[in-house]
Amino acid sequence: MSLRIRILGLAAVLIILAASASWLAYRELSEDIIERWGQQVAEIQVRYDSARLLQSLEREIGLARQMASSSTLIQWAQSPDDPALKADAIRQMESFRSNFRDNSYFVALRENGAYYYNNAENEFAGNQYRYTLDADKPEDAWFFQLIDEGRDFHLNVNPDVELGVTKLWIDVLMRNEQGEILGMVGTGLNLDDFLQDIVDIGQEGITTLFVDFNGAIQLYRDRNYIDFASIIKPEGQKNTVDLLFEDPQDKQQILGMLQMLKQRRDGTGAVESGFVTVDGRKHLAGVAFLPTIGWFEITLLDLNTLIPTSHLWPLVAVFLASLLISLLLFHFIIQSRILRPVLALEDATKRLRGGNFDLPYLPKPDNEIGRLVDHFETMAKRVQLNTRDLEYQVAHRTEELHRLARIDALTGLKNRRGLDELLEEEIERARRDDESFGLIWLDIDHFKAINDQSGHQAGDEILCRVALWLKANVRPYDHPGRWGGDEFVVLLSPCDTTVLEDISNRIRLAVEQESLKTGAPVTVSIGGHLCQPGENSDTILRQTDRALYKAKEQGRNKVCITRPDETTVSSGA
Ligand code: GH3
Ligand code: MG
Repeated sequence: MSLRIRILGLAAVLIILAASASWLAYRELSEDIIERWGQQVAEIQVRYDSARLLQSLEREIGLARQMASSSTLIQWAQSPDDPALKADAIRQMESFRSNFRDNSYFVALRENGAYYYNNAENEFAGNQYRYTLDADKPEDAWFFQLIDEGRDFHLNVNPDVELGVTKLWIDVLMRNEQGEILGMVGTGLNLDDFLQDIVDIGQEGITTLFVDFNGAIQLYRDRNYIDFASIIKPEGQKNTVDLLFEDPQDKQQILGMLQMLKQRRDGTGAVESGFVTVDGRKHLAGVAFLPTIGWFEITLLDLNTLIPTSHLWPLVAVFLASLLISLLLFHFIIQSRILRPVLALEDATKRLRGGNFDLPYLPKPDNEIGRLVDHFETMAKRVQLNTRDLEYQVAHRTEELHRLARIDALTGLKNRRGLDELLEEEIERARRDDESFGLIWLDIDHFKAINDQSGHQAGDEILCRVALWLKANVRPYDHPGRWGGDEFVVLLSPCDTTVLEDISNRIRLAVEQESLKTGAPVTVSIGGHLCQPGENSDTILRQTDRALYKAKEQGRNKVCITRPDETTVSSGA
């Protein structure tokens, strides 16, 4: 994987990690803010909804209480069969009827169970007695239950089967001065109208419901959930508020909130709130206790409707855009400050490794990489100089070795290898130019004896002197050399028999005479051969050796030359 992909991958991972952490922190924070905000909204909403309910009920409750304390009705309730009291009472009831919002009332007497009722249409004028309550009838149980409980005031959502109406009934107990219960009076409010006006007010995202002291649902937009005639139902059969929630934790939470508020019911205005799920959507539930009516008011705020998550999309878009821009910027910086210089440096290093000192332009950012490039260029120049120097030295030394390999260390003349090469060149040249050349082979006479008598060192000195005399007596373009031991060779080119004989004799004579001057007389025997074009080195050497052999044979200090016709001429002392 390339460095670029690694760096960008790493950057992306780091940015995503940082962004995820920020996103989590943001969510945590926003949820906290929403929760605080929601709680305040829930509290305000609960108070507002409670006030709305109470406002519409308080007047009716007040009137019902007034009715229950009417002396005319109290008197009659104690003597229900008295026609005069009854007529007064009916009048009194009718005057209340016109004042109740629903223009309806009911009066139920404990003495005889008689139930009186008239409605807005004045349907039962002169016939207000409707029926007699029966303790054994389930639909009448509410009356006997409330009297048993002795609660002065009660709200009851109940369908009246006899009357064929479903109402929110306001029930107030009627007592005499001794506090004995004489009956019950009140009015009803049309449930559908009431739900529409007070409960299902059509505010999107806000659901209001009222539950009684035991948590049974009393007012809710969906009538199916309403716990009609709660008062007479045993515990466990009531439609309680927890039915609205699926999550057991939510159920417990709501019931817990009711419990809390019950415990401090005198602390009016207290509101409890918490998150719950309704129909799979997150809601904030606010609960308040309404001491006037002994009910709880519950407000459910749908957070998704009130704070739509679509509001977050611009934020996500900004986040994604900034992520992209950060990556592009990061890429640009990494590219110009690191990757491009590093790749150029890698390319230059490859060239240098391949021996190419022609380096391309290298970008130098103002950072560690720039300094590295600087060092690299300096190093590359030094390597280039050192390499050139080394190459020169190697070439020079090779040349020197080549030369030395062809030089005799003692005498400084060409050695046998040098002579061999020269001989091959001469053979080739003779063949090409169709010219002959001469070869002289010289051997010091009785050299072993000189060595034995005067020592090896003295022998070496003689070898050096012979070399000097040899050089001094050949032409500048001839090639004298030491073949090995006490044998020397001279290549004469161009050459003919006369030149060969002349130079051979001159050498022999020079050695003889010059050596006398040194006090160490020495003589040499010389074999010479005039080499013909086409002769190879073996033939030439054999011929020359044969001539030398003859010179030795003839008594040494002699010159013996082989002619082309294979005859030999000898001369010497
Ligand atoms: P001849 O007259 O037949 O040539 O007799 P010679 O004694 O010279 O015999 P030969 O040429 O065969 O002997 C060569 C001698 O040269 C043998 C060896 O000890 C001696 N020699 C060879 N190389 C060197 C050298 O480098 N230095 C010295 N001092 N002696 C050498
Ligand atoms: Mg010899």
